[in-house]
Amino acid sequence: MTSDQMLTAPHAARPVLRGAVSGLPSYVPGRRSAGVDIAALASNESHYEPLPAAAAAVAEAAGRMNRYPDMAAVELRERLAGHLGVTADEIGVGPGSVGVLQQIITGLCDAGDEVVFAWRSFEAYPILVELAGARAVRVPLDDTEGHDLDAMAAAVTSRTKVVLLCTPNNPTGVPIAHERIGAFLRSVRSDVLVVIDEAYVEYAEAGSGPDSLALYREYPNVCILRTFSKAYGLAGLRVGYAVAAPEIAEGLRRTAIPFGVTALAQKAAIASLDAAGEMQARVAAVGQERARMAARLAAQGWKLQPSQGNFLWIRAADGLRERLVAAFDQAAIMVRAYQGDGVRITVADPASNDRVLRVLETFTA
Ligand SMILES: *Cc1c(COP(=O)(O)O)cnc(C)c1O
Repeated sequence: MTSDQMLTAPHAARPVLRGAVSGLPSYVPGRRSAGVDIAALASNESHYEPLPAAAAAVAEAAGRMNRYPDMAAVELRERLAGHLGVTADEIGVGPGSVGVLQQIITGLCDAGDEVVFAWRSFEAYPILVELAGARAVRVPLDDTEGHDLDAMAAAVTSRTKVVLLCTPNNPTGVPIAHERIGAFLRSVRSDVLVVIDEAYVEYAEAGSGPDSLALYREYPNVCILRTFSKAYGLAGLRVGYAVAAPEIAEGLRRTAIPFGVTALAQKAAIASLDAAGEMQARVAAVGQERARMAARLAAQGWKLQPSQGNFLWIRAADGLRERLVAAFDQAAIMVRAYQGDGVRITVADPASNDRVLRVLETFTA
């Protein structure tokens, strides 16, 4: 470097993002608005108010927010362990299951390693993978909107460290049958971590998806990912967890941002586990609405795959997708649109669902 460059370059240059970051797709948040009669159906949240016991636990814990939380979340991990029939050293918690998944990928992937997942699936997957410097390997869904596990097994290479299975799949709602995951686990190397993301498991009918804990007991390379954000209604507090072999769970605790799960979130999660019965009653009501909507939409002429989540999926090429979004906008209904693929609509209270049905009716009448 000449002395001239030494003088000018340090001031002309600007900080630049890593290529892996500047090339990332942006996470598209659900569209929302503060208006009172806006139906917020874009983020698969619970439309119910927080469970009373969770709200009370947060109010009680609020007086101690000058203190750091328990970094190891011991009480929550012990309660989860008891709830699931595992030990606390098989549990890792994080700020939402997205946070836990980031901890997992950071813990397992070096630059250039591969993570295989279905596409379209959860939007956060490619972002977390590429942020870690790993390579996202997307395997197209099959023609029933489900995971193509044969193609996914074929996509596993010597660089594959993690496979992500989302059941029921976001955004299509299609679950993966237990036996199919079992066959998949038998066909992939046992040093590949197979993450079963069950963010919507509470909404799935018994037997439609896997018995993931049984699979975990049989295959130590399984990792179960769950959250308090959806059926438990704690999306705003940020707490999720993984069940994994102790060395994996320990690793994901090490890669966590310290104190990432607040005391409020830990207390609310514990109170929520105690109120699981109330949560299940709400889930049952959403399930009834989901069935009612599916029946009405079928009668309107829509051909949709049955959903096991708290949302419906309309596959739509871009022309139809744009017209659907415009019609929902017009009706003050916020939905999630995916370029090239379709529209996802959260199932909520009967009045909001009726508004959705009225919009969709205009497309087939
Ligand atoms: C909503 C969702 C999550 C959970 O997100 P949190 O970080 O726990 O709020 C995880 N996986 C999928 C597929 C989801 O849709």
